[in-house]
Order: sequence, then structure tokens, then C-alpha cells
Amino acid sequence: MQTRGVVLIPEDLSYAPWPQLAKQAGLRTIALHNWRGVAHVTDFIQKEEGAAFLAECETLGLAVEYELHAMSDLLPRDLFETEPTLFRMNDDGQRVNDYNLCVSGERVAEIIAERAVKIGRILRPTTGRYFLWGDDGKPWCRCPQCRDLSDSDQALIVANWLLKALRKEDPKAQVAHLAYLNTLEPPKRVRPEEGIFLEYAPIRRRYDIPYAQQTGAGYSNPLDLLEANLDVFERSTAQVLEYWLDASLFTRAQRPRPSTVVKIPWNSEVFSADVRLYAEYGIRHITSFACMIDATYVDLYGEPPIKEYGAVLAEVLKP
Ligand SMILES: [Zn+2]
Repeated sequence: MQTRGVVLIPEDLSYAPWPQLAKQAGLRTIALHNWRGVAHVTDFIQKEEGAAFLAECETLGLAVEYELHAMSDLLPRDLFETEPTLFRMNDDGQRVNDYNLCVSGERVAEIIAERAVKIGRILRPTTGRYFLWGDDGKPWCRCPQCRDLSDSDQALIVANWLLKALRKEDPKAQVAHLAYLNTLEPPKRVRPEEGIFLEYAPIRRRYDIPYAQQTGAGYSNPLDLLEANLDVFERSTAQVLEYWLDASLFTRAQRPRPSTVVKIPWNSEVFSADVRLYAEYGIRHITSFACMIDATYVDLYGEPPIKEYGAVLAEVLKP
């Protein structure tokens, strides 16, 4: 079992050859991602285009997954009016319904479990691997019961709840614990249940030099964090979520912000060194965001290096 994939937003499928291209490149998985609420993907998948995408992937033998910032959908924000204690406490000691939730309470677990199951019925990954993440890089709860738990611990508590709920519907379900920004440090006080897998997304890294060389200012020992996470989570199921192909990341990084998508700074040597590095850590599941590589992107810059991407992953990850 391994993953070699790309992560797209629904709009990227305006470049109609994506599934064919992924197949020709030897990739195994296309995952859909949301920039707005979970409805960004559920709305798409329930339309004709969504059904056609799923059918094409099935014909081609491609797995489909859904990688979603979901916490604000799992706990509807309007419940705040009647049940504020379900929501997180901020650093000023006030309950707020801006992001995430409070992990100290029975009822919040029930609510999000029920909604996760509903989302899972619409967005059912063909691999059994579910990705229902915390809100994008946002803080967790600082109430007296939660404040001694790190954001990573709190995110893992929720992943453990979701795993239990989803397994009632999908006995082989696995659930991602996303290590990213405020959850990049490994959890210390909470243990992953069997079926939780690490998803490591090093968004703050550089792409002009290999990840292994990034020990300079502002990048202190990133590999120590990967290693520390791999001490907590199973290696064979761990996934890296990278940004080598993510035109949206490189576009957002430009100052001033360009009016159109920028070309990804693809560097074969860096990419290849990175994949080998991850493989040395025993990682078998590697994907990259490729957001904003859509019809407009291909018109501007031609076909992205998906075949090289897929070929190197297949070569390095070969059993
Ligand atoms: Zn709390």
C-alpha cells in the first residue's frame, strides 16, 4: 500500500485531462481539497461534473480521496448561541466560535462524529483514508481543561474521535493527523489510536534547496520535527503532503501579489532529493498539492511536469 498523488481543488479540473495525465504519469491518487467550507467539495461531487470525475477515476483505476479543513463544518458555528462551551476559549479567556472547538466535553465529540459520518457518506475515499483537518493553521482551545494540551494534542484527540465514528460506517477507515504550522510539533500527551496516520505538510520550507539542507535561520531542524512525529506515529502509513506542484502557494508567496497564477519553480534535483529523503525515513505515501494548475495555467505555461513527478515517485517508492 502506497500513495503517489496530487491534491487539487475542484476548479483545477477545468483542465480536463487531469485524470488521464495522472494515470499516464503513474500516479495512483487524486485528492480533492477545499478552500472554502466543506461544501466547496461536496457541492462539486454531487453535480454532474463531480460524478463524471469519479467515474473517470474509477475507469482509470485511480483512487480518490478528500483532504479537507473541516472543523468549522463539523461543529456548526451557529450552535455558539445556545452552547458556547462547545467552542474554544481564546487567550483572553473568552469562548469564541471563530475556529476549531473545545476538546474537553462529551457532547462536542458526539456532534462532530455524526457530521463526519454524513460528510463521509458523500465524500467517501476509495482508500479508506479520511482527512478531516482542523481549521487552516488556526489555534485550538485555551480553557482550563484544554490549556495544558498543545494544539497537536487537541487535534489528535479529535482525530481519535473521528476514527471511532467513521469505523462504524467504514470498518477499514483510517484518519489523518495533520502536522502543519501550529500542529507541526508532535503530540505529547495524547496517543494515536490504531488507524490514525501522520500527515506531514511542511508548508514553511523552501523549494530552491533540498529539505534536508534547510537547517539555517528560520528553518531550525525541520527534520527533527519529522523524526519526532515518526516516533509517535506509524511510519508505514505516514504521508507527506508537499507543495512542489502547488501553483497556489507560489502565487500567494509573490509580493506584490500577481494578478495571475505564477509558474511553479520546478527543480528536478530538489524534488528528487526530497523524495529520496522521505523514502529514507520509511515514508510510502507522498502527495503534493497542485492547486491552480488548471486550464488557465496550462494555457499560460504548458503542461506541468506531472510525468517526471510521477516517474520519480514510482522509481523511488518502488517496493
Ligand atoms: Zn477547552
